[in-house]
Amino acid sequence: MILETFPVGPLQCNCTILADEETREAIVVDPGDEISRIHRRLTSLGLTLKQILITHAHIDHVGGALKLKALTGAPIYLNEADLPLLQMMSAQAAWLNIETPETAPPDESLTDGRRVGLDNYPAQVIHTPGHTQGSICLHFAPLKMVLAGDTLFAGSIGRTDLPGGNYEQIITSIRSRLFDLPDETNVVPGHGPATTIGSERRTNPFLK
Ligand SMILES: [Zn+2]
Repeated sequence: MILETFPVGPLQCNCTILADEETREAIVVDPGDEISRIHRRLTSLGLTLKQILITHAHIDHVGGALKLKALTGAPIYLNEADLPLLQMMSAQAAWLNIETPETAPPDESLTDGRRVGLDNYPAQVIHTPGHTQGSICLHFAPLKMVLAGDTLFAGSIGRTDLPGGNYEQIITSIRSRLFDLPDETNVVPGHGPATTIGSERRTNPFLK
């Protein structure tokens, strides 16, 4: 298995490359920016990109998706409840004072319970609205890992003051869906360091 998580762009969104060393098939989660760097990495590892998975439609997570699709032909997956945010891309770019990236509707919706990922490294979609209405987490049960987007951070939670945000909802999503996962599950958040479900259950001040 190849598993690489690295921050990209001005907001340092964690982008993840997961690949099967045997089949050389890969997925990329949240290619928010630095697409030539991500594409170079895929190429140098000899990987074929199968899916571009987006945890939610904030610019720092989705900004480079269409560019990566153009370079690789891989389809883009995004929960359709975030379509309104996707359509607000120029407003999102204005918040950050950066150029508006091109966007397009996703090829597939990441609906709750859907199985995505690779044959040997499958993931289940967990719909966790609150940070945005279409926020999802990707649970790779065999890897004991969840990619949490901006729903759960080490010691914090995603902000809910942007359009589509809802504080009660994010707390419910974390308690009822993420805290349902085993304690030893590694959490790779959308920003900052990794943590575990058990550690957040015990110490996250927003969830006491
Ligand atoms: Zn976000």
